[in-house]
Amino acid sequence: MNTLSNTEYPIAVLGAGPIGLAAAAHLLEQGFNPVIFESGNAVATSFRDFAQVRLFSPWRYNIDKAARKLLEANGWIAPSDDDLPTAGEVVQQYLQPFAEIPAVKSRLKLNAHVVEITRKGYDKVRTKGREHAPFIIRAEIGGKLQEFMASGVIDATGNWHQPNPIGANGLPAIGERDFADRIEYGMPDILGRLRDRYLGKCILVVGGGHSAAGSLIALAELAKNDPRTRIHWAIRGSNLTRIFGGGEADGLPARGALGIKLRSLVENGQLTLHKNFNIREIRNENGSLTVIPELDQGEAAQIQGVDEIVAGTGSRPDLSITRELRVRLDAWLESVEALAPLIDPNEHSCGTVRPHGRRELSHPEPNFYIAGAKSYGRAPTFLMATGYEQVRSIAAAMAGDFASADDVQLDLPETGVCSSDFSDSGGRGGCCGIEPKKTTGLAVEQSCCSTGNVTSSKQVACCG
Ligand SMILES: Cc1cc2nc3c(=O)[nH]c(=O)nc-3n(C[C@H](O)[C@H](O)[C@H](O)COP(=O)(O)OP(=O)(O)OC[C@H]3O[C@@H](n4cnc5c(N)ncnc54)[C@H](O)[C@@H]3O)c2cc1C
Repeated sequence: MNTLSNTEYPIAVLGAGPIGLAAAAHLLEQGFNPVIFESGNAVATSFRDFAQVRLFSPWRYNIDKAARKLLEANGWIAPSDDDLPTAGEVVQQYLQPFAEIPAVKSRLKLNAHVVEITRKGYDKVRTKGREHAPFIIRAEIGGKLQEFMASGVIDATGNWHQPNPIGANGLPAIGERDFADRIEYGMPDILGRLRDRYLGKCILVVGGGHSAAGSLIALAELAKNDPRTRIHWAIRGSNLTRIFGGGEADGLPARGALGIKLRSLVENGQLTLHKNFNIREIRNENGSLTVIPELDQGEAAQIQGVDEIVAGTGSRPDLSITRELRVRLDAWLESVEALAPLIDPNEHSCGTVRPHGRRELSHPEPNFYIAGAKSYGRAPTFLMATGYEQVRSIAAAMAGDFASADDVQLDLPETGVCSSDFSDSGGRGGCCGIEPKKTTGLAVEQSCCSTGNVTSSKQVACCG
């Protein structure tokens, strides 16, 4: 049971990204008193980091319903549903105005970096009476540790600030830390702020996801201004189907367009693709970097003369803050455990997830939840719309409205590509082969994204 057994204290929301702020909106709607802890000196630090990036989901998917209601009650006019904003526009036109609503602003603690959470008087091992003990949130504010009590906690701290290293085995490549000044993680502003850093240089982009695709497309654009600009692209696998995506079959045309553009860059020879390139080491040779793959790939495979590296290798959650709580995470994705079979990139590429809420997101620790991008752990396909439904369900459960909490609905556009033909883990059943885990009250529509035969761009869930 997850109704709050202790309502004396506020509900702590950790992180003021799109999902943390949506959590605050739903908690306010349910009559709770949320307090939002945010490390940064402003809300949405992740979106501010890649402000230049045009999102592939239009506004209709990017605004939480409870946040919209609160904003409209304060005179806000919503942007047009079909427009595609940049991440920066989402901050300026939606998240920042939301954070300025007096009921939100008064509950928002900026520059408050949460370092640890526990329960008052209870370490992780002690059980009896645990559910009645308030949480203690320990946050670093102005260089000092402060403690706050909370009746419940929603951890929406995301993954963005813990990028994966470029070493193929998950560890930093040998030399990666030594050359940190020549490596940018995530999505650097190639055509704007960092233009001079990349113009006319030899750049290696590492990774096979949307971030790497976006950086490659930006570099190709930049190269038009200086033909000396050379672009290398290293991926660990050899199958480009997932990377190029579903093209025109993608339910989000802007996401499909990324793959189409990338494919044409490869086909037109505008970049040099290195398949099966498992990076082991980076060395400095005569002032430029040599990037060396695993030993069994041979000397010839080395990439020499690299000036800059862009690591679009994804990110991973910070698990340290919940060390003293009873959380249940997947062994390899580090996602909330129940979500793992639905989002494992070894099996899935369709970009959707079965509707889910407080049941799947619960932990052995009562009234503690992980939501948003962090709930997906290392899996890359999280969309804001998923997180908005997660926190709606959690807030309803905390208020004891289980009918509403379990009536989870998700309308997510598929990528138009299904990974069932290149699954190699043998672990969780393939993109379309998963039996739905029945949960009371869930309206689960069994739908399947068979390769090359996507029937609808708006199915409720790919992997039912
Ligand atoms: C390049 C890129 C493009 C994307 N495009 C889309 C898109 O088009 N459509 C879509 O739906 N989704 C998109 N996503 C996915 C997703 O919506 C974003 O990752 C989104 O930022 C997730 O929101 P969040 O609130 O879970 O996490 P975040 O936005 O990462 O927010 C977490 C917040 O928590 C704060 N924080 C972190 N640690 C602590 C701590 N210890 N204490 C206090 N505060 C802390 C951070 O400063 C941050 O403000 C994209 C993601 C990326 C990376």
